[in-house]
Amino acid sequence: MLQLKDIKKDYVTSSETVSALKGVSISFRQKEFVSILGPSGCGKTTLLNIIGGLDHYTSGDLVINGRSTKLYKDRDWDVYRNHRIGFIFQSYNLIPHQTVLGNVELALTISGVSREERIQRAKNALDRVGLAGQYYKKPNQLSGGQCQRVAIARALVNDPEILLADEPTGALDTVTSVQIMDLIKEISGERLVIMVTHNPEIADAYSSRIIRLRDGVVIEDTNPFSPTDEERECAEIHAREEMELAAAVAYAPTPAAKAAVMKKKKERAKMSIFTAFMLSARNLLSKKGRTTMVGIAGSIGIIGIALVLAFSAGIKGFIASMQDDMLSGNPIEIAETSYDLEMLSGMISASMKNEISNGKLPDRVYINSLVEYLAKMNKDSEAAKIENNITKEYIEYLKAMPEDFYAAMLFNYGIDLNANLYVDFKYDKNSEAENISIERITTMYTAILTESDFSKYASYVTALAPSMQQMPNNIDYISTQYDLVAGRLPSGINDIVLVLDSKDELSDLLLARFGYYTQLEFTEIIKKATDDTYTGESGLYRDSFTYQELLDENKVFTWYPNNTIFEKTSSIPGLSKMTYHSSSEGFSKDGAVDLRVVGILTPKDNISFGSLKSGIYYSEELTNYILEANAGSEILDFVSDSKNTFSLMQSDMSYGIRYDYSYISYDGIERDENSEKEVIGLVSPTISMMESMMSAMGGGGSGSQTEYFETLQKTFIRNLGGNDIPSKIHIYPTSFDEKDRVTGYLDDWNKKEGVSEIKYTDTLELIIDLINTMIDVVTYALIAFTSVSLVVSTVMIGIITFVSVVERIKEIGVIRALGGRKKDVSHLFNAETFIIGLLAGLIGVGVTYLLSLIVNLILDDIIGYDYIAALPPLQAVLLVLLSIGLTLISGLIPARSAAKRDPVVALRTE
Ligand code: ADP
Ligand code: MG
Repeated sequence: MLQLKDIKKDYVTSSETVSALKGVSISFRQKEFVSILGPSGCGKTTLLNIIGGLDHYTSGDLVINGRSTKLYKDRDWDVYRNHRIGFIFQSYNLIPHQTVLGNVELALTISGVSREERIQRAKNALDRVGLAGQYYKKPNQLSGGQCQRVAIARALVNDPEILLADEPTGALDTVTSVQIMDLIKEISGERLVIMVTHNPEIADAYSSRIIRLRDGVVIEDTNPFSPTDEERECAEIHAREEMELAAAVAYAPTPAAKAAVMKKKKERAKMSIFTAFMLSARNLLSKKGRTTMVGIAGSIGIIGIALVLAFSAGIKGFIASMQDDMLSGNPIEIAETSYDLEMLSGMISASMKNEISNGKLPDRVYINSLVEYLAKMNKDSEAAKIENNITKEYIEYLKAMPEDFYAAMLFNYGIDLNANLYVDFKYDKNSEAENISIERITTMYTAILTESDFSKYASYVTALAPSMQQMPNNIDYISTQYDLVAGRLPSGINDIVLVLDSKDELSDLLLARFGYYTQLEFTEIIKKATDDTYTGESGLYRDSFTYQELLDENKVFTWYPNNTIFEKTSSIPGLSKMTYHSSSEGFSKDGAVDLRVVGILTPKDNISFGSLKSGIYYSEELTNYILEANAGSEILDFVSDSKNTFSLMQSDMSYGIRYDYSYISYDGIERDENSEKEVIGLVSPTISMMESMMSAMGGGGSGSQTEYFETLQKTFIRNLGGNDIPSKIHIYPTSFDEKDRVTGYLDDWNKKEGVSEIKYTDTLELIIDLINTMIDVVTYALIAFTSVSLVVSTVMIGIITFVSVVERIKEIGVIRALGGRKKDVSHLFNAETFIIGLLAGLIGVGVTYLLSLIVNLILDDIIGYDYIAALPPLQAVLLVLLSIGLTLISGLIPARSAAKRDPVVALRTE
C-alpha cells in the first residue's frame, strides 16, 4: 500500500541544518494499526507529515500503491491528501467559527461534493463517532474528547485509505483517551492507521505494529512488512480496483453514467469559489463587530465620492429641471446692438498685466500703463459689440419659422408709451382730477423726490418702475406661467393686465407712476420712509389695494397719437417748433385708445423665471396700432431732421424737449415749472453703461458726440413709435429641447447667400454651460480630495487582511491538510476582501442614499426641489465595483502570502 524508501528530511534554517529524518524505510500493509513511538523531537511528526503529503522529503521516495511520488506536483499532493489521507492532530485543529457539521463538511467541500451529499455524509461521520445531534454546536461548546471526535469524523468523512494521527490523545484525560483509542482501533479494521505517540502503553494496548524511532532513524519494527510483500499487495489492489471499476462501468445503465464513474475515479480536489465565499462569509460573520467597523471605515471614501457625484448629478438635474422655467425668463434674443457675452466675460477676466515684470530695478517706481489698458479694453469691447442689420426680409424670415418651434415671439420696436399715455391724477382724494401724461407724473414725482430727503434716489422712479410693456403674443403661453387671480385674460387692443411679482406684490413706485396714489398719499410714503419720528396722518398711508380698486372700470389710461400731443409752435425759446402738452385738456379723441386693466396675473408657484416681470402689460395689437397711427407724425419729421436735433441737444443739458407744467411741491406750495432744475426732458433716453464708458474712453471728441446724438435721436424716434423694424426680438422656444430647433433655424439664415449675418444671444445656453462647467470642475476637485480617503481605507483593508491571515493561519493549515490547493487559500482571502469591499461599497452607497434623502427633505423646504442629491444608480453600481476592486487589490498581497504559507508551519503554529 505505502512504501517509504530511504526517506531523509533536512530542515534548513539560517543558523543550522537539522536532519529530522536520516533515511527511513518502511512498508505498510493495506490494513493495520501502526504506532510510531519515540521521544520528543525524534522526527515522528515529520515522518507523519511526509506520509500525509503535507511535507516533502529531501531525498528518498514515497511509493503509493506502486507509484513513485518523486515527480508529484502540488496538485497531485493536494489530490492525494484529499482522497487518500485523513489527519488527526493532537490539538484537534478545528476551525472555531464553523459549526461541528461545517468542520466535518470542509473536507468534502474541498473535493467539491454537492451540498446535500456533503451534509448527509458529514452527519453520518459524526453519528459514527458518537456526536449525533451535536451538529450545530461551535467547537468552543465541546469538551476536548468531543473535539477530537469531530476531528476524527472530519478525517473519516472522505473515506480515506490512510488515517494519520499525531498524538491524538495527547491533550486528553485517561478516560477520554480510552474512548478515543477504542474509536481509532475500530476504524483501523478497515484501513491503514498510523498513529504517533510517545505513550508506549497505548501503543502496546491498541496497535498491531510498533515502530520505534530515535533521532530520525527506525530502531525497531515489531511487525515488519517486506517490500516484496508490499509490491505483491499493490498488484492485488490494482487488479481488484480495475475489476471493480470495470464492473461499475458495466453496471452503469447509460453511457453518461459510465463516464461519470470513470470521471469519479479521476476526480481532483477542488474547492469552488462559492465555497471560499461561504467560508469567508462565515468567518466575517463570526466577527460581526470588526467586520462592521472595517466596512464602515472602508465606506468613508466611497461615501465621499458618492456624495460628490450625488450632488453633482442632483444639481445638474435641478438646473435641467429649471431649464424650461429659466427659458421663459431668458428667451433667445436678437437685437440691433448687443454684446457678445462670451467675449465680454473673457474680457473681464483679463487683468491689467504690466509687461515689465522681469529685470525691474530695485530703486525705481515703474509706471502702470493705464492708457494702454484702457485702449485695449476699448478695442476688446468694440470687438465684442454686435451690430445686427435687422431687415424686413429677416422679420419675414422669422415670422415664417414653423410655429411648433416656439411658444411666443415678441417684436420690440422700442416704443415708450409714457409721453402718449394720459390718466386721471389727483392731489388728494377730494381735489379735482386732472388728466395728465405718465411722463408728467414721472417728472413730477422725480422733482418731489429731489426736493425731499430722498433726493439721492430720485432717479429710481424711472429705473425701478417700468413703463408699460408689450406682452408676448401668446396668451396660452402666458397662462402656463401665470395664474389669473382676478378679472379676465386680455383679449383686445383695449385690455391691459397687471402682473404681480412672486410674492403677489406690486411696487409703490410703479403704482405711483401710473397714478394709483394721490400725490398726498405718495408724499406720505416718502415721509414715512425718510423720517423715523414721523407718525403719519391717519388714513393717508396705504399698504394694499383691493382687486376691485385695481380693476376699476373708471381707471382709464388713454393713448393719444403723436400729432395730438405735440403741437407745432414757436413760443418756447430754444425749441423753435414743437410743444408737448402734458395735460390732455382740449385734446381731440380722434385716434385715441382707451386702456383698462382687465386682469391681474401672478406667477405660478413652480415658476421662478417667468417671461413677464412685475408691471403693466399691453397687447401686440396696440403696438401695431401705434406704429400705424404715429407713422409720419410731425414730431418724427422734426426729430429726424438732424439739424433740429443737434440744436436741441446743445440748447440744454437734459437732451430732450422741454415743456412747462405746474405742480404742488413737496412742501405743499404750488410751483410753475419751467426752470432748468425741475424741467426734465420729455424723453431722456438712458444710454447704456457700456456706451457711456466707451464714449468716455474715446476721449469725448466731436466724432463721438455726433454718434451719441445719433443714438439719442434713434432712441427718441423709436420711443415715439417711429420705426417699424423691431430693435429687439425675443423668441420663446416651447421647451429647452426645442431651443436647438430655433437656433438651428436662425443659423440657417446666416448660411444664405447675400444676407448680412444676424447674431443672436442665447443667454440660457451660456448660463447653463457655465454652471455645468463649474459643477464639473468642482466635482473633479472634490473627487480628487475624497480619493485620498479611499486610498487610506484601501491600505487599511490590506493591513486588516494581513491580520486576518495571521489569525486564520490554523485554518490555512487545515485546509491544506485536507487537500485544499494554494489557490483555494488565496481564494479564501480574496473572497474575504471581496466581501469587505462589497460591504464597504454597499454601506457607502446606502449611507449616501440615506443622507441624500435627508438632504433632499431639508432642501425641499428651502428651494422647493426634492432631488438635489441624486446618485445615479449606474454610478452607485460603479462605486460598489470600485470599492470591491480596490479592496481586492489591497488584499492580493496578503492573500498570496497566505497561499504560500507552508501548511506544516501553519499547523505547528499555536
Ligand atoms: P517529534 O514530533 O518527534 O517531537 P518533530 O518531527 O516535530 O519531532 O521534529 C524533529 C526535529 O526536526 C526536531 O529537532 C525539530 O526541532 C526539527 N524541526 C521540525 N520542524 C522544523 C522546521 N520547520 N524547521 C527546523 N527544524 C524543524
Ligand atoms: Mg511531534
